[in-house]
Amino acid sequence: MPFSKSKSSESFRPSQSARPTPSTFTITTTNTTTTTISSAASTTSSSDTSSRPPPPFKVLIVGAGVGGLMMAVCLERAGIDYVVLERMTQLAPPKSTIQLSANTLRAIEQLGLLDDVIRISKPVATVKLRKQDMSIVGTMDATFYKERYGHYSCIASRTEFCQILVSQLPKGKILWNKYVLEIVSGNAGVQCRCANGHVEQASILIGADGAYSAVRQNLYQKLKRKDLLPKSDTEALRFMQNSIIGVTKSIEDLDRFPAAGGEFAEVNIVVGKDQPYTLWLSPTFSNRIAWSVSGKLLTPEGSELSENFKQSEFGPESVDAVCALIQDIPIPWGGTLADLIELTPREYVTKVMVEEKHYKTWYHGRTVLIGEACHKFVPFSGQGAEQAILDVICLVNLLYRLPTQSSHEDYCAAFKAYYEQRCPIAKNAVQTSHLFSHVMNSQGITADMKRKILFNLPTWITNSAEDKIQSRPLLDFLPPVPDRGAKAVKTAAV
Ligand SMILES: Cc1cc2nc3c(=O)[nH]c(=O)nc-3n(C[C@H](O)[C@H](O)[C@H](O)COP(=O)(O)OP(=O)(O)OC[C@H]3O[C@@H](n4cnc5c(N)ncnc54)[C@H](O)[C@@H]3O)c2cc1C
Repeated sequence: MPFSKSKSSESFRPSQSARPTPSTFTITTTNTTTTTISSAASTTSSSDTSSRPPPPFKVLIVGAGVGGLMMAVCLERAGIDYVVLERMTQLAPPKSTIQLSANTLRAIEQLGLLDDVIRISKPVATVKLRKQDMSIVGTMDATFYKERYGHYSCIASRTEFCQILVSQLPKGKILWNKYVLEIVSGNAGVQCRCANGHVEQASILIGADGAYSAVRQNLYQKLKRKDLLPKSDTEALRFMQNSIIGVTKSIEDLDRFPAAGGEFAEVNIVVGKDQPYTLWLSPTFSNRIAWSVSGKLLTPEGSELSENFKQSEFGPESVDAVCALIQDIPIPWGGTLADLIELTPREYVTKVMVEEKHYKTWYHGRTVLIGEACHKFVPFSGQGAEQAILDVICLVNLLYRLPTQSSHEDYCAAFKAYYEQRCPIAKNAVQTSHLFSHVMNSQGITADMKRKILFNLPTWITNSAEDKIQSRPLLDFLPPVPDRGAKAVKTAAV
């Protein structure tokens, strides 16, 4: 079945008349100020914002990753002023993939970007779990997703996805090579100082700077001094193991790797027996295959608990040494991983740490966190990018509904509403990803049995689990697109 194209994905900007009438709800901020914030687009309200000018505040976004760029595109469409500070000088080479599902593709369609995203993705048909001898333990089917939820789940290149978002922004909105070091925040606004002395100011600050967020660290230091930080937020990310990932260049020999050329992706997971590893193979667009290996096989003897080994990146010189540890792993199409490594440019190989954490503190004063800055997922959970985009949809809708002359309390109230909506969902996603990751990366008979059960569950159980996490939220400030899924969403909460 082809991955169908949307007819309604031409680019558009919001027109004032297209603004839906917001619903409103009242929340109480921590300092007992009561503020009314508009949220969903569905019900009527006495406060008509459809004819008001765009809010006169400015948003400072730190980080041009998936979350930061998506936020920038949404603010651009909502007519809210913003600027992005990014420490890199340009987008990174395509080293990894992200998974996107109907939950985020609906808003992406609203933004007019669905065709572009489909072009850089491959829809997932099945996930096969195999033993080291390549015998199949079980298969998860994903072909029904489009009919049931409106879109296939798809594997996209992270870099190309970011490129699409960058292409939607006017020049000068992303300031590259700006490494944020220091943040000053008060009741009048925020100020970021970068390593090269550049200073940027705005009304509010969004920390979209990933798992080792400087914005979070700055914020937490201040909260800790005031004794306002929960103990769990002072603890390090939970490290589980190292993982090495790579994405091949376009594969020409499709007789050798037929999976690379298929219209749909068959994801293969191979769990080692003699050697402790888990191998993931995900075909993606342009006949490329994303591969990753995690497990003890990657940890050289004696370095298992070494902090240096945990923290260090694989430099280009050590990539070959690390690849040597994994090159003999067999792959489902015959041969070994060495055959894929050979097709992978060295700069497309990277080391990531399999670690996770759900933070309790997501905002304070004029600062708010999104994405991996406040919830870090294990890399192969398929949730990192998806949850960052869901954060954006929720937060940008709340910012769009702020009163024209927003006060400090209004910002605080919007952040609190964002936290209350998103925190429980993200926490649940972190916990589910943890369980999945644990089952997939464990060795032994019990782990084998758990995997066998997981990959052979009756369809009604897997459907019911998937149904529960469906939300498919919309951006309030853009014309809605139809919900294409046969299985309706129970609540539009993100
Ligand atoms: C190797 C790898 C594989 C992954 N695979 C998947 C997958 O298969 N499926 C999936 O859904 N997710 C995956 N993820 C996770 C996914 O990419 C992220 O969760 C997602 O991009 C959301 O992240 P983010 O925007 O919050 O942060 P990031 O994407 O990490 O972006 C943070 C940005 O902030 C910048 N930054 C950091 N500090 C500073 C600073 N001080 N000043 C200025 N800029 C700064 C960084 O350079 C970066 O550009 C993977 C992640 C990695 C690293």
